[in-house]
Amino acid sequence: MSLITPGEARARILAAASPIAEIEHVGLREALGRTLAADLAALRTQPPFAASAMDGYAVRADDLASLSPLALIGEAAAGHPFHGAVGPGQCVRIFTGAPVPPGADTILIQENARRDADRVIPAQAEPRGRFVRPMGLDFKEGDALLASGLMLGPRHVGLAASMGHESLPVRRKPRIALISTGDELVAPGSVLREGEIVSSNAFAIAAMVEQAGGLALDRGVVPDDAAATAAAIAAAAEAADVVVTLGGASVGEHDLVQSSLSALGFELAFWKVALRPGKPLMMARRDRQLCLGLPGNPVSAMVCAILFLKPLILSLLGRPADAGAPWTEPAVLGCDLPANDHREDYMRAVLSRDAAGRLVATPFASQDSSMQSVMARAEALLVRPADAARAKAGDACAVILLDGL
Ligand code: AMP
Ligand code: MG
Repeated sequence: MSLITPGEARARILAAASPIAEIEHVGLREALGRTLAADLAALRTQPPFAASAMDGYAVRADDLASLSPLALIGEAAAGHPFHGAVGPGQCVRIFTGAPVPPGADTILIQENARRDADRVIPAQAEPRGRFVRPMGLDFKEGDALLASGLMLGPRHVGLAASMGHESLPVRRKPRIALISTGDELVAPGSVLREGEIVSSNAFAIAAMVEQAGGLALDRGVVPDDAAATAAAIAAAAEAADVVVTLGGASVGEHDLVQSSLSALGFELAFWKVALRPGKPLMMARRDRQLCLGLPGNPVSAMVCAILFLKPLILSLLGRPADAGAPWTEPAVLGCDLPANDHREDYMRAVLSRDAAGRLVATPFASQDSSMQSVMARAEALLVRPADAARAKAGDACAVILLDGL
């Protein structure tokens, strides 16, 4: 099978994904990072009454023109309205958040007034409505403020609360099963015997899955054994929307994951992408079940998760627009680079700003796909297109920010 481009691989993956239909209702405190499954309308008006934006006096703007003293007839504080109306020549002491009493239309801030027993002497006139937040200034009952498909952030959760919602309809999280493969893998904290290494991939990929809005099911490590691999994939496919295998993908070993998949009736959609790191990426399908085979090298696995698994999760959450683009930010190269070969290259890079404020991306000298320390220090993936010509420092390039990853 010949190499396909990363763009083609992503297109095939997204084409195979249909959004999860099940809707759950979660409390506001559980809503962060979930994807709204319906348009949300306000159940109430905010503010529900004309409210003072400042501490001062509720007055009638017309009364201020003469700067003559006003009769102080009462007080209104937040949660404690003044029960009465403000007539001509009268005012009410008012605090931020209190309802503006009927008759009053303006707040004279306390800095612009002098109080003398039950009289208030204005120091200046104010335009009508000054420092009054009209009823419904923020939103009105029935206003559709949060759209289906939105991934809820802190700001949206706060707004939903203010709109009067106690719980929110969200899409069920896509369940992503992670199967690590390899005889050499042991859990973090283990004493390593000869030839063993710590299995780290599932931790990084689970974190990426959950950050993207999915639910990661870590199915543990399976040995390099065809029967064990097939059994693990079969069980995971029952439990999850997507099965992700990690490792068992390099030449000589690829038969393990691939032959297990075909023995289970999965059909290979593609294997090998013109990509560095991450060339052995694989996708297989069985009806609606999807399997992504990620390479075992930790940086390759992470780059493939960023480029393919995250878009897949967004697509399953009903957010195909986010899943597609935009991917990259414009930047300039911090050093010269040689011509690229036929594989799109995602180089680990640090970022800085030049005098003109442009983002400058400088790749690390070592781009070995096993080096997690470099991946952790990187701030961006510098994208080198396939067959790119030699480039000089200062030339335009594109980066994927690793912010938050
Ligand atoms: P593979 O794709 O299985 O040939 O693995 C490629 C490289 O990645 C090998 O050096 C593996 O030891 C390493 N590797 C595979 N799986 C993991 C894992 N879960 N955590 C860390 N390294 C791994
Ligand atoms: Mg292996």
